[in-house]
Amino acid sequence: MKMEYVPTVCPYCSCGCGIYLVVKDGKIIGQEPWKDHPVNEGKNCPKGKNAYQFLYAEDRLKTPLVRKNGVLEETSWEEALDLIATRLKEATPETFGLLASGKNTNEDAYVLQKFTRVVMGTNNVEYCGRLCHSPSAAGLGPTVGAGVMETSEIDIERADCIFLAGVNLKETFPLMTMRVLRAKEKGAQVIVMDPRNTATARYLGDIHLQLRPGTDAAVLNAMMSIILDEGLENEEFIASRTAGIEELRQHLSSLDLKELEEISGVPLETIREAAIAYATAETGCVLYDQGLNQHATGSDNVKALASLALLAGHYGRPGTGVNPTRGQINGEGTGDMGCLNVFYPGFKRVSEDVAKIFEEAWGVDNLPTKPGFPYTVMLQKVKFLYVVGTNPMMAAPDVNNVRKALQDIDFLVVQDIFPTETAQLAHVVLPAATWVEREGTHAWVDRRVQKIDKVVDPPGEAKPDWWVVCQLAERMGYQDKFDFSSPREIFEEIRRCVPQYAGITYERLGHTIGGIQWPCPSEDHPGTPTMFVQKFNTPDGLGHFQAIDYKPPAELPDEEYPYVLTTGRSIFHYHTGTMTRRTPKLNAEVPRGFVQVNPADAAREGIRSGDAVTLETRRGHIEAQARISTDAPSGLLFVPFHFAESCANVLTNPALDPACKMPEYKVCAVRMEVKR
Ligand code: SF4
Repeated sequence: MKMEYVPTVCPYCSCGCGIYLVVKDGKIIGQEPWKDHPVNEGKNCPKGKNAYQFLYAEDRLKTPLVRKNGVLEETSWEEALDLIATRLKEATPETFGLLASGKNTNEDAYVLQKFTRVVMGTNNVEYCGRLCHSPSAAGLGPTVGAGVMETSEIDIERADCIFLAGVNLKETFPLMTMRVLRAKEKGAQVIVMDPRNTATARYLGDIHLQLRPGTDAAVLNAMMSIILDEGLENEEFIASRTAGIEELRQHLSSLDLKELEEISGVPLETIREAAIAYATAETGCVLYDQGLNQHATGSDNVKALASLALLAGHYGRPGTGVNPTRGQINGEGTGDMGCLNVFYPGFKRVSEDVAKIFEEAWGVDNLPTKPGFPYTVMLQKVKFLYVVGTNPMMAAPDVNNVRKALQDIDFLVVQDIFPTETAQLAHVVLPAATWVEREGTHAWVDRRVQKIDKVVDPPGEAKPDWWVVCQLAERMGYQDKFDFSSPREIFEEIRRCVPQYAGITYERLGHTIGGIQWPCPSEDHPGTPTMFVQKFNTPDGLGHFQAIDYKPPAELPDEEYPYVLTTGRSIFHYHTGTMTRRTPKLNAEVPRGFVQVNPADAAREGIRSGDAVTLETRRGHIEAQARISTDAPSGLLFVPFHFAESCANVLTNPALDPACKMPEYKVCAVRMEVKR
């Protein structure tokens, strides 16, 4: 049989880079760059260059498994689905919860939330977006009206000042680096705000705001103070498009810049340099991620960042805005589809009125009207948990506590592609089809909806998530509400229920390289690369300044735990490593967990590079290999969160942001000891 070259999109981060798969005899045997794809122009990072190998890993789940006498045993789909339906009938709206994933397609995610709301009668549906960008919704919502990327990622190269706030772009969104480099070639200045001297700070940064972890609001307040003190605010923009400047001005005038310098550890002169560079730029672009978000003050940090952009008038034009860089292939879309405890599809906030809209759309009564449990709370509260494509046993904070909760749960179903750390605890495990084994759409970082076609069959008896959920709904008496025979049919319902997607069709996506960016209200609409051009999405159309106080992290170092621990990513791995740890070339680059230690701290503790080190917090301990590096400043230890044997989230603090329930992954107190 001849070889085929099939275009598709990388399964990893939300950049959404195109690749060609080389297919022979129904199997993917290689891949090639997709030179015409507008996002990546034929370039891919290491993950994208090794995109498909995980599909063929030895331990792919191929058959449903049911726990009998404590052991997971192979069974048929019939038996597994009958058992799940029987057990879920015992659940109440308060005792059931479902966790979806940023790897689900839009169609899968839509059906998952509909099942939770229609069949189970609850808003206890969440996805891993809670753990990465919930502060974006809580912070950008009140400020500009939508927690989404404003600019097209392609237009980043049009900026003449780029502020990378808590995002290690070179490792986490490598292809966006290409845009930043192009902007730099044209003379753009790049500001990096990060406690570590990351590859991004070293290679892209012109100004490095190397702050103490968790002091983002102090730095941002100082920048705004300086802009106002020096009269660099954009008066015309403020007058015509914003509200609340006087309250902000008053708040900032009560702050002491010297105190903010002391809190953050960043010299005032460096903060001034950054403030002037950003405020005086023609086109200022902010990109931010977990470094800013993953704090108990994450939503405040985002509000401060958005207020800074309003002050400078950097909104509403290509290459501007305050842009959340969502992590996963469908990190945006799973949220768009309503896999959030407070939002029905299309970000319609849970309420009686909104429930009525969906009762009419879906032809049902009594949809839930109260918010469900957020992700980490759900893990502790529900008795029947359905986990689809996410891995809380590595991704949630304080994993030892999560294990206790899951071991205690009445009924745990895990639907995934590998026997993840969470699947090991399940009563039923269902094998899922993934990526190019099924058809569906995703929304990438800049609201870019692209379609991925089915290229190969899933292994064994693995099935698409939407099919499994429809089968369960049928067994539970809701066949007529889940009478879908293809993702295309589900997408047609999505178009009716999610106004942002109304004009996007499978046909249009099939003819559009690089996809269509929502909002796209009608079939003759080209999509929206830039948001907020005329007005913001707030009720009055104005951008609302927010006056934010710096609040310290929930747990700081002391005599017992003298270091600060922070967590993050490596370019060679992806989230909890389920796919990349099974990709030999990627795993060979970074095969095990490590801890980055500053040379001065290593000398003090008698640690040499390569030593096994025990890291301990109030929640547990792990072992990791020491890497001595000046990337970490003295007093700070960095651990990537991809590795099961050195699971960073055994250590992390489950303290939550009160507004959005984001855990404080980025700062906790830790001690270390060399093992000899
Ligand atoms: Fe894939 Fe992201 Fe790398 Fe692009 S930058 S190749 S989407 S992992």
